Amino acid sequence: MGRGATQKDRPPAFRSSLAANPLPVVTLKKDMIEYKLVRSNRKTIALHITAKGLEVRAPLFMPAREIERFVKSKENWIDKHLDGAAQNSNPAGRFLPGYGDEVSFRGRKCRIVGSPGMGVSKPGYVKGRYEDGMLLITEGLEQDSIRFVLSCILKREAGKHIPQRVRHCAALMGLRPDGVKITSAFGRWGSCSAKKRLNFAWMLMMADDETIDSVVIHELSHMIHMNHSPDFYKTVRAYCPAYDAQRKKLKELGRQIAREGWKR
Ligand SMILES: [Zn+2]
Repeated sequence: MGRGATQKDRPPAFRSSLAANPLPVVTLKKDMIEYKLVRSNRKTIALHITAKGLEVRAPLFMPAREIERFVKSKENWIDKHLDGAAQNSNPAGRFLPGYGDEVSFRGRKCRIVGSPGMGVSKPGYVKGRYEDGMLLITEGLEQDSIRFVLSCILKREAGKHIPQRVRHCAALMGLRPDGVKITSAFGRWGSCSAKKRLNFAWMLMMADDETIDSVVIHELSHMIHMNHSPDFYKTVRAYCPAYDAQRKKLKELGRQIAREGWKR
């Protein structure tokens, strides 16, 4: 098998435009490859093939040349597995965010930034938060954990933002809902029960503020009309004149979420 062909089939190198620092490169006998170095509290060094390529997980203070020596000694393993990964990288198309990637949050693209100060307060519980247009997440996590922490951050932000918007819009509309809950629903942005309790999906936090308000107004309007009659839409449009445009944006966001594989 010619090197040229397999090289071409490999998973793309890390998106260097997004990476904060250039990635370390190791020169093997046949190839020069980039890898992602993740240092953590671990005792041993290990190689992993992720959706984005080679990842080396090493103890915090292991010298760089020792890491390089280890990577070089595993050339055959790397060769075999990188080529395998090229044929089968993330087959489900699941959204696997990494540090440096961007995620929609309240209509803006926010970067995921690894933060050393977040700590791990107890086993299995990792921290992250939204701050100044960035999604700060504990450093050194695998992509599945990053995704989990992201969902926790968005859920928490939804719990702050959405009830506030419900209070604001309900006051304008002269309504008093009985409660607001944030759910993990997919494909359903909001709902309103006969008991006048409102539910909203945390994924709504990926939409912009006007679009979030349009869903809030939609659900509040159900407190007046428990249906989707012309009268219902009259009420919705009275408080949200650009409702159709917001609806269109929501549909697009729904497609984006499906495309990115957030559901899987
Ligand atoms: Zn409805």
